[in-house]
Amino acid sequence: MIPDWASERADMVERQLRRRGIRDERVLRAMGTIPRQEFVPLEMRVASYKDEPVGIGHGQTISQPYMTALMAQELELSGDETVLEIGAGSGYAAAVLGELAKRVVAIELVPALAALAERNLHKIGLGRNVTILAGDGSQGYPELAPYNGISVAAAAPDVPGRLLEQLADGGRLVIPVGDFQDQELRVIIRKGSEFMTRVSTHCRFVPLRGHYGFR
Ligand code: SAH
Repeated sequence: MIPDWASERADMVERQLRRRGIRDERVLRAMGTIPRQEFVPLEMRVASYKDEPVGIGHGQTISQPYMTALMAQELELSGDETVLEIGAGSGYAAAVLGELAKRVVAIELVPALAALAERNLHKIGLGRNVTILAGDGSQGYPELAPYNGISVAAAAPDVPGRLLEQLADGGRLVIPVGDFQDQELRVIIRKGSEFMTRVSTHCRFVPLRGHYGFR
């Protein structure tokens, strides 16, 4: 039987996102529109709308839908922003952010995944405002800073100071911080030279590698 992706997607939005407290209507709309199955490898496609991360090769995963939604919601985007994503993976979260912000730059350490993310975005004809770059994103991307939002899709041992420096005034950094098993999703808001931190939830991401990641 051919899966009914549209109804699986609507179900995901209702059960996994709305009922669990995702309230940002723009986030709900983006995730209710973007064909997530196009970002999942063919052999894993039946799991596209499941309430869990899905393997995308190279030992990496596309995050659980709820986590992508929560991170996007925490950035409080209205459409005018420049956003940096670290850990583009399949390109799915970058596509979601592309619907919510003016411009998105997404960096991916594994070159084959950077190429995959680029292909996936092209395939769905979305993300014309999204640039995928291959490289180490743990140091951010100062060339296009400052960013109104930075979303880190891999767990860091600590908050890299280089990322804080690249936040615009009023900008927000969303980043999982902890060890391999357990992390807290921190939301850091810049007000001038001050940074306010709040813990959004506990989570478990794949480790951030590179200069400010795990060695
Ligand atoms: N946002 C992705 C999920 C990514 S999983 C999606 O929606 O599909 C985390 C990704 O971070 C992995 O692809 C991993 O290769 C990448 N990564 C790990 N360390 C990195 C680093 N230092 N710079 C850039 N990407 C990194």
